[in-house]
Amino acid sequence: MLPATASMTVMLLTVAYYALRRQTDHNYFVNVPIPVNGSYFDFIIVGGGTAGCILAHRLSTRLNASILMLEAGGPQSVITDMIGNTQYLIGGEFDWNYHVQQQHYAGLAYPNFTISRGKVLGGTSTTQWGIYNRGNPNDYDNWSQRYGLTNMTWDMVLPFFLAYENNTDSSLRFNGYHRSGGLVSVSTETEPDPVLLNFRTLMNTLGFSTIDLNGGTQNGTAIAQMFYNADTGIKSTTANSYIESINQTARITITTRAFVERILFTNNTHASGVVFTRNGTEYHMFANNEVILTAGPINTPQVLMLSGIGPRIHLQELNIPVVRNLPVGNNLHDQVFVPLYYRVNNETLRQVDPYPRFDVANLYGYFHNASGPLAHHADGVTYYSSSQNSNATSWPDTMIISVVEFFNNLNATVSQYASNTEQWRRYWTPYANDGYYLAIDPVLARPTSRGTVRLNATDPRSAPLIDPNYLSNQTDFEALLDVTMFVVRALQRYPLPGVMQFPPIPGCPIVGCLTETLCEMYLRCHIRQLARSYYNFAGTARMGLANDTAAVVDPQFRVIGFDNLRVVDASIETPSNGDMASIMVNIPNSRYCSSDAISLDNLALIETDTRLVSEPNKYERQNAVTLMIVPLMKFCAIIDNSPMTRMDESDK
Ligand SMILES: Cc1cc2nc3c(=O)[nH]c(=O)nc-3n(C[C@H](O)[C@H](O)[C@H](O)COP(=O)(O)OP(=O)(O)OC[C@H]3O[C@@H](n4cnc5c(N)ncnc54)[C@H](O)[C@@H]3O)c2cc1C
Repeated sequence: MLPATASMTVMLLTVAYYALRRQTDHNYFVNVPIPVNGSYFDFIIVGGGTAGCILAHRLSTRLNASILMLEAGGPQSVITDMIGNTQYLIGGEFDWNYHVQQQHYAGLAYPNFTISRGKVLGGTSTTQWGIYNRGNPNDYDNWSQRYGLTNMTWDMVLPFFLAYENNTDSSLRFNGYHRSGGLVSVSTETEPDPVLLNFRTLMNTLGFSTIDLNGGTQNGTAIAQMFYNADTGIKSTTANSYIESINQTARITITTRAFVERILFTNNTHASGVVFTRNGTEYHMFANNEVILTAGPINTPQVLMLSGIGPRIHLQELNIPVVRNLPVGNNLHDQVFVPLYYRVNNETLRQVDPYPRFDVANLYGYFHNASGPLAHHADGVTYYSSSQNSNATSWPDTMIISVVEFFNNLNATVSQYASNTEQWRRYWTPYANDGYYLAIDPVLARPTSRGTVRLNATDPRSAPLIDPNYLSNQTDFEALLDVTMFVVRALQRYPLPGVMQFPPIPGCPIVGCLTETLCEMYLRCHIRQLARSYYNFAGTARMGLANDTAAVVDPQFRVIGFDNLRVVDASIETPSNGDMASIMVNIPNSRYCSSDAISLDNLALIETDTRLVSEPNKYERQNAVTLMIVPLMKFCAIIDNSPMTRMDESDK
């Protein structure tokens, strides 16, 4: 046991030891030679992100298949383990740093604002905030009904969610909605910022009960559990949870910094392999069985289109030979939020430290006993049914995220705006002086606006054209306005101690919220100016039944028209409809392949764990509420929690 006040030498040695040990773990599977050009593998997985890492684990542990997983980014690092450092991963070296096309109905204050996507082993699960929210039961029931997959209702899928979970909170573990022992750790934040607790109390006063976000109802308010282990301080990325638990004898090759450019075909119905580049060298690798795309909702459609699978007219415009005409890249959608910034004039209202610096004390705290600002991050989540919601009582359509954010670069903040630069500098200067602020972010949980991903050029390295078309549907705008009005009014009527009133932003020539009418006028402007991505993209290779002309993949995740090419990531459906979880739908439903073939379908041949599934009533929900993001994290979880994981566990 180290002394309470360790000397600088002890602290430095502790940091160095643990940092080296963790980095060695991160590098274990990636420090392998590049396979010989022209090699064959049973499966080639394109993209070692959220979904890719889970698939790699499942295929290698259950089928003993040979797998090549190609990831464009590098390995994880000790700094990606730290949940308190997430804010600084966004836009950095682990990010694709894409921009959206200039929007017409949202984000007008920014020129082509950036969006975040993880470019690292673990993908966006490595760079995401880490809010643990499975989504609303209605998401699943709705999805199940839409595709006629009757055994994929919420009651049927909950056991799959439980299978992967390792909940470190003993007060939740036995409430019927959680468990421990799975591969993915989730923890309750032990030191939420007092200002977030005060906001939660305000929500309580206004009728929102405190809930477990993943419990019987989502109708209420909570400090979210997070995808991390509070005991170790390590974030639960899918690389940490799944890749690092792969048996060392597994036949898996993970090649990082490998940029997949296109799929190879033997005819127009069979994928034979892929082409990727690494350090300027081109490689061709071949698949005995399947090529599986898990490059995420932006890059999966990009790779498909570069390979000749996409809208015929678009491909022909770029002189790409058409392999199959499919609506790839259509149906892009994303949750959208509008930031409301509040100054906090009392530093005791925030968590531990104003800024999660990489200094010796913070690093020592993190590595020694998972303490300090690098080991903490808290988000408040409240569900709210807007005036536009036809399912008001059971399925809220918006949510309110509250979070304390740190401020360290005034110039970078100001430079994100297209105009009014000097006004924006004046606006942000007090926040910069404080070093942090309270962001209350109303979020549209179930957007109906749809956009596109298209190729910019035939050069694979050219960033795709991303147009989410935010708030193009007026219903979306009115819903976001309603929840934003609710937040602003609530904080006007019941000011939180130490939290200053919401100041009007540059570019909205209205004084602010002096009266109801003025407030609405002001917020209409504010939303159009500042609403932007909540980073839950999906839908660009939508799943559908055979007669669905808007579908790109069938319910078994096969690209329509191909016998061995699949998409298994957030592209397949809309998270805002909870459909990410649909991935799991495939698993218990697929019982059609021959039992001797090594195939993704074989995953389905493992029988469902009747112990969990036979107890659906135990998990019966009460007033299930809003659909939530249901980001891919969740759907991946479902892949994982498929019967195999549970068999793994019972095998022990
Ligand atoms: C900033 C941020 C915060 C978020 N916060 C939360 C949260 O709090 N809670 C939550 O549940 N969800 C959150 N999400 C959403 C969630 O993380 C994503 O929905 C999910 O991780 C997407 O998974 P995916 O497998 O589809 O894609 P990714 O995880 O993005 O995986 C795609 C992988 O493919 C790789 N790749 C792409 N193109 C190529 C290529 N050509 N060749 C080789 N490799 C390639 C990428 O580098 C990446 O590793 C957040 C997202 C972001 C961006």
